Amino acid sequence: IEQTFSILKPDVTRRNLTGAVNAKIEAAGLRIVAQKRIHMTRPQAESFYGVHKERPFFGELVEMMISEPVVVQVLRGESAIAKYREVMGATNPEKADAGTIRKEFALSMGENSVHGSDAPETAATEIAQFFTESEIV
Ligand code: ATP
Ligand code: MG
Repeated sequence: IEQTFSILKPDVTRRNLTGAVNAKIEAAGLRIVAQKRIHMTRPQAESFYGVHKERPFFGELVEMMISEPVVVQVLRGESAIAKYREVMGATNPEKADAGTIRKEFALSMGENSVHGSDAPETAATEIAQFFTESEIV
């Protein structure tokens, strides 16, 4: 059993789609074992997306992530990391498969509704950035 870190991005909270996205997560067999709504600070967003700091879209990405509250989550399940990436769909919503969260809800490459960890190591560090052990149940 594996855990992954998820963010429902500002385009989801702004459009009141938190429940709709969570329904897709749960329908895929992933269990939401921690969840909170937060307004990310600039340092938090810059540190979270630190790997992308040299990319041309970094500034826009940080502004987007702090523009509205987000929902941060820990998802648990069999192969949770790969399974959630599958449910999310491709980064570019135009390339996302039918039935995926991004195909259904994403607005653009930037406002693509969700984040999911890409490997066990990143899942562990990302979870630790936002949750203590006792908050994950
Ligand atoms: P995430 O890391 O959020 O789960 P991902 O792994 O599919 O998404 P990455 O390549 O890690 O995609 O990019 C991180 C995020 O940066 C994307 O989800 C998107 O919000 C934003 N992003 C990526 N590429 C672009 C781009 N070309 N223009 C604008 N924003 C982008
Ligand atoms: Mg990524």
